[in-house]
Amino acid sequence: MSTTAELRTITHWIAGKPVEGESKRFGDVYDPALGSVAARVPFASPDEVDRAVAAAKAAFPAWSQSSLAKRTEILYAFRDGLKRRAEAFAALVASEHGKPPSDAGGEIARGLEVVELACSVPLMLKGEFTEQVSRNVDVHSVRQPLGVCVGITPFNFPAMVPLWMFPVALACGNTFVLKPSERDPSASILLAQVLQEAGLPDGVFNVVQGDKVAVDALIDHPDVAAVSFVGSTPIARYIYARGAAAGKRTQALGGAKNHLVAMPDADLGAVADALISSAFGSTGQRCMAISAAVAVGEIADRLIPALRERMAKLHVGPASDPKAELGPLVSRAAQERVVGLIEQGVREGATLAVDGRTLRIAGYEQGFFVGPTLFDHVKPEMEIYRQEIFGPVLVVLRVDSLDEALALLERNPYGNGASIFTSDGAVARYFERNASAGMVGINVPIPVPVGSYSFGGWKGSLFGDQHIYGPEGYRFYTRAKVVTSRWSEIDHPGINLRFPGGHT
Ligand code: NAD
Repeated sequence: MSTTAELRTITHWIAGKPVEGESKRFGDVYDPALGSVAARVPFASPDEVDRAVAAAKAAFPAWSQSSLAKRTEILYAFRDGLKRRAEAFAALVASEHGKPPSDAGGEIARGLEVVELACSVPLMLKGEFTEQVSRNVDVHSVRQPLGVCVGITPFNFPAMVPLWMFPVALACGNTFVLKPSERDPSASILLAQVLQEAGLPDGVFNVVQGDKVAVDALIDHPDVAAVSFVGSTPIARYIYARGAAAGKRTQALGGAKNHLVAMPDADLGAVADALISSAFGSTGQRCMAISAAVAVGEIADRLIPALRERMAKLHVGPASDPKAELGPLVSRAAQERVVGLIEQGVREGATLAVDGRTLRIAGYEQGFFVGPTLFDHVKPEMEIYRQEIFGPVLVVLRVDSLDEALALLERNPYGNGASIFTSDGAVARYFERNASAGMVGINVPIPVPVGSYSFGGWKGSLFGDQHIYGPEGYRFYTRAKVVTSRWSEIDHPGINLRFPGGHT
């Protein structure tokens, strides 16, 4: 934690204004390539959280009464603003997260899909109507906003994950308080500015920076109606339990250990390319990164050399290097953790086929770098398989059959994404039906659903029953109301104490 006052200080955003706050506690925000502190972020107190929730609560009546046409107009303008500022977002994310701007740009592209979905709110909120369920009695259903919704988001997608949440929440008429990751918090303020430029009324979208103190104050706040969380599994489990105990609608997406099953009949080049991109993109810090390759039968002997050949050509560097395909890890703690797990893998007897610990980048010796790393002959009981490493480490497990691969998936405590590469449709279909994961890829390594579907895993990867964005996002951010009505002057039914039925 930093006490230096000279550093750039990132702000909160409350009621349409950047707010410095009165925090006495701050977190350090790093340049991960240099390993040096670049800014500091205030940690909100419960009082500051209360101010943000009060702003969102005050904005709710007018915003929830605004027409769908008005909300859509603002969301379209927000979409244009995001597109115009895409490069600024990419540069900002790259500077605090460490990923290359080309990779960071992908966040905005995927986030835009959800904004576009939110622009279709008039279609998505269409209710049902049934005429004449009883004589002169009609029934219809509507979905109404919840109130103040909260988003708590992880460091690895500081723009995209908030964009998974608030566009749909706002489209439905809710107001929002975002608590972004304290490790790369600046993108949240740019999101707030672009929303304001798009015409969003003050108070509808707010940001509080902070740590556990702010998170707990948000969850417990009596004026908060719903909590969306994305982050690691232990915290997701905690948020879900605490949210439920406080009577809040809660969805909490957790960590992952995503498997790619390579069948012997798969195109070797396609499998190797897919594994490299999905394991090492963003330095392995994607919740849908493939971190476990399951080689079925003899393909393993061909796969390992193909992976080594490709890994030797990967260019690791700071975000400022235009040739860099992957950057440093987000923090010193992450770097130490990943190096520690690699050491443990060696101790446990896995074959270290490519060792990323030896990577040195001139001028960036203090940066949080770990090079792409490959383990072969990994066994399910080893820590490098059991833990979500969240770094550039790919482990290869060798099995004899597809059923053995599926059993690994079944036993794994996570269930975010799972992929198969094969040229056999029947095998692909069998995998699709039996894979224990919420998102399945067939000859696609990272099966993140497009905005018009919903994103969510199984088991330890999601606590709650609604996935995020897409149709389930609309359900999460609204509550149902069913209306039974009689409009008839000529048919006054009179007093009838019997339990009402429809057969009249
Ligand atoms: P994290 O769980 O450490 O932090 C996520 C958020 O929770 C942050 O805003 C943080 O401030 C807050 N937080 C941290 N500790 C807390 C505590 N004790 N009490 C209350 N709040 C707390 O996660 P991270 O390291 O920022 O992100 C990486 C993790 O997120 C990985 O496990 C990754 O798989 C996961 N992730 C999952 C998805 C998904 O869709 N399932 C998407 C992105 C990231």
